[in-house]
Amino acid sequence: MKTEISRIPMGKSNSYLIKGKDGFILVDAGMPGKSKNVLKTLNNYNAKFDDIDLIIVTHVHNDHVGSLDDIKKNSNALVLVHEKEKNYLKRGYNKFPDGTMAFSKIISSLANNLFFSKDQFEPVEADIIIDDGFDLSDYGVNGRIIHTPGHTEGSISIIIENKFCITGDTLFNMFLNSVYPPFANDEEELLESWKKIRKQNCKKYYPGHGRKFSLNKFDKTIKKHIKE
Ligand SMILES: [Zn+2]
Ligand SMILES: [Zn+2]
Repeated sequence: MKTEISRIPMGKSNSYLIKGKDGFILVDAGMPGKSKNVLKTLNNYNAKFDDIDLIIVTHVHNDHVGSLDDIKKNSNALVLVHEKEKNYLKRGYNKFPDGTMAFSKIISSLANNLFFSKDQFEPVEADIIIDDGFDLSDYGVNGRIIHTPGHTEGSISIIIENKFCITGDTLFNMFLNSVYPPFANDEEELLESWKKIRKQNCKKYYPGHGRKFSLNKFDKTIKKHIKE
């Protein structure tokens, strides 16, 4: 059975709805006030909020957990997050990530110096805390989660059917010739995670920002950043 993955625009970021055997897994929860976008996509399947069984948080930044509290309350779904991110989720704010390019370094230092612009969201208590791998077959999906730190310490990616990879902000598709993210707290770790993802040999990538892209674009960016 082929797994269906739908992209949901959630403000400046993407969520993804994965159709399982009996229910759905939602990956990320977008900007605040966007839960109706999820409902719209569920309606395409004649489904409702409570057909979501699991919400996977790729990492705890306001543009990925902004509507999480709302969607969790509406759906009663379990929320899964990496161990290294759970406290940010619980307290409702995070530091703005470090810039990796000239323009994003400026944005990052401005954001972190203005205390009122903290990266805030409604706090959520996670139900499932993972360390590294997590198998999704209990949720009717042929897939698994891998730990891919770098953008943030607890960033995770989802591999579906060994073919598709949902990456959060570990890969970022808003530039023409590169999928390198403009923000990452640890760039060395990020590139180690890229190697880990590349080994899975997936053919399609579903980023937190921008449209899905092919292995070819990932490989071209790898060549620019990883010298073997
Ligand atoms: Zn992020
Ligand atoms: Zn993001």
